[in-house]
Amino acid sequence: MLGNEFDPRDLISGPWRACPACGKDKFGVINIGGSRLTRRCRDCWHGQEYRLPELRKKIIYLDQFVVSNLMKLENRAIKGHANVAADPFWRELHDLLFQLIHLQMICCPDSGSHEEESRIAPFNPELKKTYEALSGGITFKAFDSIKSNQIAELATAWAEEREPSFDFESKKVLSRNPNEWNERFYVVVGDNPFISPAELRRVRTELHANIARLFRDVWGKEKQSFEYWYELERKGFQGHLLNAAATHKRERAKVISAFKPGEEPSLEALDKLLPSFPERIIEGIESIMRFPRGGGLRSPEEQAELVRSFLSKNRTAEAPFVKLQSLLFAAIAVRAERGQKEPPNQGTATDIDTLSHLLPFCDAMFMDNGCRSLLQNIPGKLRPPETAKVYSPNVKAEFLNYLRSIRDGISAEHVQAIREVYGAAHLGGVPSAQGQ
Ligand SMILES: [Zn+2]
Repeated sequence: MLGNEFDPRDLISGPWRACPACGKDKFGVINIGGSRLTRRCRDCWHGQEYRLPELRKKIIYLDQFVVSNLMKLENRAIKGHANVAADPFWRELHDLLFQLIHLQMICCPDSGSHEEESRIAPFNPELKKTYEALSGGITFKAFDSIKSNQIAELATAWAEEREPSFDFESKKVLSRNPNEWNERFYVVVGDNPFISPAELRRVRTELHANIARLFRDVWGKEKQSFEYWYELERKGFQGHLLNAAATHKRERAKVISAFKPGEEPSLEALDKLLPSFPERIIEGIESIMRFPRGGGLRSPEEQAELVRSFLSKNRTAEAPFVKLQSLLFAAIAVRAERGQKEPPNQGTATDIDTLSHLLPFCDAMFMDNGCRSLLQNIPGKLRPPETAKVYSPNVKAEFLNYLRSIRDGISAEHVQAIREVYGAAHLGGVPSAQGQ
C-alpha cells in the first residue's frame, strides 16, 4: 500500500481463534510450512506452533489436452470456450480437482511435456497459468534424469551382485516434496529461456518421423507376434544407445579437427563439443563400475570386466522406462501388421514418452483415448498392473468417481487440520466433513 507504513500484523490472517495469552479473538495464521502451522496474536503478538498431520497426496498426471480444456473453460474470450463449457464433465472435473488441491489431497505436477507443448501452442500464458494452478509450481524432473536413475540402479545392482530395486517414490522425481501443507501462495518462474519453440518442433518432428518410418517399412511388412516386437524393442535399446554415443564421439573428433585458428566456430559445431545424453549414460555406467558405493576403487581390469558383462547381458533392457516404451511400440507394431494404414501422429510419440517415464510415479493419469487404447492392446500377461491407473475421456465417469473416492476418504484429523489452517469455508462440498 503506497504511502502507508508496513504493518507486520497484516501478515496475520484468519481463521481467527481466541488468543491463549490475552483472550482476544485475534489469534490468526502467520505461517504454513512443511507440516507446521504458526499462529500469532494481532494484539499481543503471542505466538505458538502446531504440528499438522503428515500428508500423502495422490499424484495425478493430467495430459496437455486436459490442461488446454480447463484453460478454455475459464477463458470466455478464447475460441473453443463454448464447446468445452457445453460439456458438464469439464466443469465437474475442474471443481473436483481444485477442491482436492485445496484439501491438500492431490497434486497434479506439471512436466516438460506441458511446458514444451504450451510453448508451441497459442495462448501460452493462459496455459502456463492453468498448469501452474494445478501443480502449485511442482514439476516432474526431466525424463532424461528418470532414465539415468533407472540405468544407474541397474549398473549399481550389477556391480553389487544383487537384484535391482527401483524406487518409485514420487518426491524423488519432483522439484519439491508434494506432501507439504501449501502456503496460500505458490512461487513460479517465467518461461524457461533454454527451451526454444523451434528446437522443440524439430525434436518432435524427428521422433515422429522415426515412428512413421518403422510403421511403414518394418512393422507393416512383417508378420510377427506382440512378444517378438516387444523383445526386439526392449533388447534393441542398448544398441541404439551405444551407436548414438559412438556417432557423437566421431562427430566431435571431426568438429575439433576442422577448427581453424581465427575462425568463429558455428553454434552447431559448439553444440557437438558437449557430451551428449547417450555418452553421459555410458560414462555414468563406467564410473559406477569403478567406484564402489562403500568407498575405495576397483582396478581397471575389474571395472572393464563389470562393464563388459553388464553390456553383454543387455541389462538396460530391464529398465522400467525401456519396458514400458517397448510395450507401447509393440502395440503400434501389431496395429501396423493388422493393416492400420495411418501411422501414429506426433501426439502419440509424446504420449508414449510421458507414459513410459511417469506412469510408475503416478497414482492416476488422465490421457487421451488413443493413448489408453494402446495400453489395452498390450496382451494381458504382459500388461503391467499400473496401466489400470490410466483414465481417458472414454471412462470419464470412472475418473470422476475415483476423484470423489479420494475426497470421501478424508480423515477426521485431516478435516480438523483444514479447519484450523484455512478455515471452514475450505470444507464446503465435502460430504464427510459436514456435521463434524
Ligand atoms: Zn493475544
